[in-house]
Amino acid sequence: MQFRDLKTQYNTYKDEIDSAVQEVMSNAGFIGGSIVKELEEELADYVGVKHCITCGNGTDALSLVLMAWDVKEGDAVFVPDFTFFSTGEVVSLNGATPVFVDVDETTFNIDIDKLEKAIEETLEEGELTPKVVIPVDLFGLPANYPEIEKLAKKHNLLVLEDGAQGFGGNIDGKMVCSFGDAATTSFFPAKPLGCFGDGGAIFTNDDELAALLNSLKIHGKGENKYDNVRIGLNSRLDTIQAAILKIKLRAFRQHELDDVNRVYDLYNNKLADYVQKPVVPSGYYSSFAQYTIQLDSKEQRDSLQSYLKEQGIPSMVYYVKPMHRQQAFSNLSFKESDFEVTNKLCDTVLSLPMHPYLKEDEVAKVAKTVNEFLN
Ligand SMILES: *Cc1c(COP(=O)(O)O)cnc(C)c1O
Repeated sequence: MQFRDLKTQYNTYKDEIDSAVQEVMSNAGFIGGSIVKELEEELADYVGVKHCITCGNGTDALSLVLMAWDVKEGDAVFVPDFTFFSTGEVVSLNGATPVFVDVDETTFNIDIDKLEKAIEETLEEGELTPKVVIPVDLFGLPANYPEIEKLAKKHNLLVLEDGAQGFGGNIDGKMVCSFGDAATTSFFPAKPLGCFGDGGAIFTNDDELAALLNSLKIHGKGENKYDNVRIGLNSRLDTIQAAILKIKLRAFRQHELDDVNRVYDLYNNKLADYVQKPVVPSGYYSSFAQYTIQLDSKEQRDSLQSYLKEQGIPSMVYYVKPMHRQQAFSNLSFKESDFEVTNKLCDTVLSLPMHPYLKEDEVAKVAKTVNEFLN
């Protein structure tokens, strides 16, 4: 059993993918071109925004937006404490200060009350200017954008949605990567919509921002890439990756997203009531980058993981360490008591195998093994 089965996915679409890659190679147009443009239009159309700007990876996508917004030293950027490193890394990379915020125990996403408290405390301290909040759609579930957008408006903050794990999800039909002032995603192979290497994209309705991002991602180009009007990055999505993504986007829309939600339903039915399962609030739709259960203690979690491994079932701990405890952020000051929930989740979460090609008997085996262990 695979934790995330990329081989079966490839084999299902092998002929189409192989010929698309072969065509790019035969044409020897490896950077840019009409395939990348077509993909950007399809992605923007799917998400329901005006502009999609593809780039090298999901981390660059976040960084490019912060660069475009001129986020810099002295600015505070609010980031959930329970996320992948990139979300905070890009803030420090741009010279600003990440302010980590604890998450909600049931959704794993940024806690709205604690976000407001962090904004107010930052204002009171008076050292940093609150500028941006980067909510993360953790494990596929959209963050609480209705509330986040209200708070951002009240405190004059920009919202940058980190949809790296949430692509395909929605709230009442409004798609992930259409929230906030700009949104980003990642096409890292294991993400809901993955390519065969690194890739990323930015989404926005803002024409001016889109134009600036298209310059920043190609060395701050002006008229062309040899006319450089600002300092930027070299961050493009390869044409081969775009060709693969066009095929994978179709599969994603046609069945993969439904299939991970079918696996979610199967797990929910087959896991016993005493297992603490992931919660999808009413009106929310998750793209299930992960199916994550919570255990009572670190000892119980770790021994369940070992037990699963003995039975040939892979599982993962996302995430072992809260952001505020990463050595890279050891220069920041914080109160350990502000991160009660994240500290606990890092000890008690366990992600089970989850992907569109997981079979019903495999889900049954995982559920039976977890139930047995906990009973
Ligand atoms: C994967 C991920 C990223 C970074 O994406 P890359 O394409 O690997 O650079 C950023 N944020 C979150 C929440 C992620 O899971």
